[in-house]
Amino acid sequence: MIHYSCDRCNKSINAREEIRYVVRIEVQLAVGERENGELDDVSLEELEQMLGEFEDSVDEGLDEAASEKTFDLCSRCYSEYIDNPLAIETMGIGFSKN
Ligand SMILES: [Zn+2]
Repeated sequence: MIHYSCDRCNKSINAREEIRYVVRIEVQLAVGERENGELDDVSLEELEQMLGEFEDSVDEGLDEAASEKTFDLCSRCYSEYIDNPLAIETMGIGFSKN
């Protein structure tokens, strides 16, 4: 029997009885728009700065300027996640926590 657990609340998910959601997040470095612009106008200094920003992103864990992660979620965490995928603080809305 294949056993899954929710990556958000660690609850075990019985794949036979419960719905399991797989969330795939793909992050890409968006440099394409700049490249299509008039590169002639970009000074060497600016190019170095762009490269520096690129390297900073790699240092932050973006593997080769793109990153993909996959998470298993239980149905409850899925519905919470899809309401707020960026985990923005929702203080003041008044969710009651059990
Ligand atoms: Zn969960």
